Amino acid sequence: MPKLTLDDIDVRGQRVLIRVDFNVPLDTSEDGSPTVADDTRIRAALPTIRHVLDNKGKVILISHLGRPGGQPNPDLSLAAVADHLGTLLDERVRFSSNTVGDTVEEVIAGMNDGSVILLENTRFDPGEKANDEEFSKALAALADIYVNDAFGAAHRAHASTAGVAKYVDTAAMGRLMESEIEALTRVRDTPDHPMVAILGGAKVSDKLGTIRALSKTADHLLIGGAMSYTFLKALGREVGRSRVEEDRLDTAESLFKEADGRIVLPNDHVVADDLDEDAEASVVEDNIPEDLMGLDIGPATVDTYREALSDAKTIVWNGPMGVFEIEQFAKGTMEIAEAVADATDDGAFSVVGGGDSVSALSRSGFTDRISHVSTGGGAMLTLLEGAELPGIAALSDA
Ligand code: ADP
Ligand code: MG
Repeated sequence: MPKLTLDDIDVRGQRVLIRVDFNVPLDTSEDGSPTVADDTRIRAALPTIRHVLDNKGKVILISHLGRPGGQPNPDLSLAAVADHLGTLLDERVRFSSNTVGDTVEEVIAGMNDGSVILLENTRFDPGEKANDEEFSKALAALADIYVNDAFGAAHRAHASTAGVAKYVDTAAMGRLMESEIEALTRVRDTPDHPMVAILGGAKVSDKLGTIRALSKTADHLLIGGAMSYTFLKALGREVGRSRVEEDRLDTAESLFKEADGRIVLPNDHVVADDLDEDAEASVVEDNIPEDLMGLDIGPATVDTYREALSDAKTIVWNGPMGVFEIEQFAKGTMEIAEAVADATDDGAFSVVGGGDSVSALSRSGFTDRISHVSTGGGAMLTLLEGAELPGIAALSDA
């Protein structure tokens, strides 16, 4: 169902409550004050903020940051983000240490058209994660129009991502939300073939629904990361001390069989006896000796995967191929990043998403050669799986 976008609404003079994803990593500066360590998510929200500013709306920004557990926590204040946003926008960004209530409502009533305020972390209130009706109404009381641009949080039914939309007349998608949905539904619903999906990362259990869905649409589903070992063990291979989810062996086996050859597993591995930069790494084929664990895909697997990617027209990637945080187990992930970038140069439409995947991609230096880098991990997987995202479903129909 198509949803309202910024093109459908007139924001002039309106109080526009924009849910952004400013859940950014913070650092401590030399004077002890918090600073933004990585502003990718803040930059991703700029097109929506600028649109409302340029069209003389009042911009009221809300976001969560971290997991404060429903109570105020100065370490997880958004105050530092307000300063950083002010620098990026080259505008004054006010900050409110209250998220809802009379004081905030008064401050907003006094705002000029075309000005910006950021409100404190929504998760300081227990009503946020509970999707509480009162908290949702209190948020709605701040706004004439609600805009959701927090794609990364759209798979959660919280007050600021879903509940609030019920109590405003107009609830629309922001620009980032629009571009994420466009790229991801293209991959999900109308991919050009051959389509290659690459899935890796820590846990197969997080991604079963997505694996099942992609194993139906993709021509090849290349598996890497720790999740390979659950599949390999399910198929009777020796995996040594590699990470395995014993309670998913049956599911992995039936997924593999249903996929009828489209799921491809690594056939060689970089192994070590310890998850450590000083551990002695070697490459083994097939079975992993019982005292060792698989920590990256091996060179023969990289060649096989590169070959599959070389003529792909659509590529979707979530999950690193190994423990890329440690240099000697990063090679598989870096080489797959390059293969995806090369295929994109040759005309494939490529999408990469997931917190660790995007940081691995950024380390590879190939981010700019990918068609769409998603700001969503769980949200991207949920959308690709074909399930409803509450943060999108709650918006007004176009
Ligand atoms: P994303 O955040 O992109 O969705 P995940 O969180 O699912 O990715 O997985 C990333 C994590 O998986 C990384 O921290 C990485 O070290 C870990 N990982 C990858 N391969 C292995 C492996 N073979 N053994 C243990 N951990 C692994
Ligand atoms: Mg992760």
